[in-house]
Amino acid sequence: MNRTAPTTRATVRRQSARARYDQAAIDAILDEGLVAHVGFVSEGQPYVIPMAYARDGDRLLLHGSSASRLLTTLATGAAVCATITLLDGLVVARSVFNHSMNYRSVVIFGRARALQETDEKRSGLKRITEHLVQGRWNDARQPSETELSATSVMSLPLEEVSVKIRGGPPVDAPADYASSSWAGVIPIQTVFEAPLPDPKLGPSVAAPVGVTSYHRPTKRT
Ligand SMILES: Cc1cc2nc3c(=O)[nH]c(=O)nc-3n(C[C@H](O)[C@H](O)[C@H](O)COP(=O)(O)OP(=O)(O)OC[C@H]3O[C@@H](n4cnc5c(N)ncnc54)[C@H](O)[C@@H]3O)c2cc1C
Repeated sequence: MNRTAPTTRATVRRQSARARYDQAAIDAILDEGLVAHVGFVSEGQPYVIPMAYARDGDRLLLHGSSASRLLTTLATGAAVCATITLLDGLVVARSVFNHSMNYRSVVIFGRARALQETDEKRSGLKRITEHLVQGRWNDARQPSETELSATSVMSLPLEEVSVKIRGGPPVDAPADYASSSWAGVIPIQTVFEAPLPDPKLGPSVAAPVGVTSYHRPTKRT
């Protein structure tokens, strides 16, 4: 079900038929994606920083060194804009003008809050780890107190969010459909290849199922 945008700035204006605002569309993209581009302004300079993330219910979790500019700026309650993009195809049109991409993308506006309690931080890090590779939190050594205190975990509410989805063939100008130029879509899929064991791994250490059968949840809504 499509809903209306939560705010004016989160309302898709260009190609508004491609907009979605429902939780299912938001969650599907966030759960499949791996990289968030996080934008903020520090001392008048805009930065957009790529990083790992995880969705935890109705919030996006980010983490990093407590000393990083990104995390210290976010911890002041600075305005944030985060995007997550899944690329589904290259759209090859009859005209150069109408070349495009098929995609599913999310834009999130808001202000992040630093998780303060150790238990809250730990469960945030668990979500981020499990988003990357399922089962990893229990398979790997968990963070020490020192590692925990060197790490900030930020929570960005999923309250002001837009989704935009482009699918299907190119949209050419009517006169161009008579053209002999090829047109169509080159689909894109992310492929996770067979895992490469660390050369320093002992011979008796088998890869867990979360590694050998690695896959992302794919739910095109
Ligand atoms: C992989 C990819 C490639 C793209 N390439 C181009 C390109 O080369 N040129 C180009 O002009 N556009 C491109 N777009 C579309 C682009 O993201 C914008 O939607 C478009 O440029 C309109 O921008 P605007 O600021 O005028 O949008 P507006 O409709 O005015 O934006 C208003 C609000 O809509 C929401 N919104 C806008 N775009 C998106 C989005 N993609 N996903 C989720 N929410 C969104 C935001 O909340 C934003 O604040 C691309 C998108 C993707 C994902």
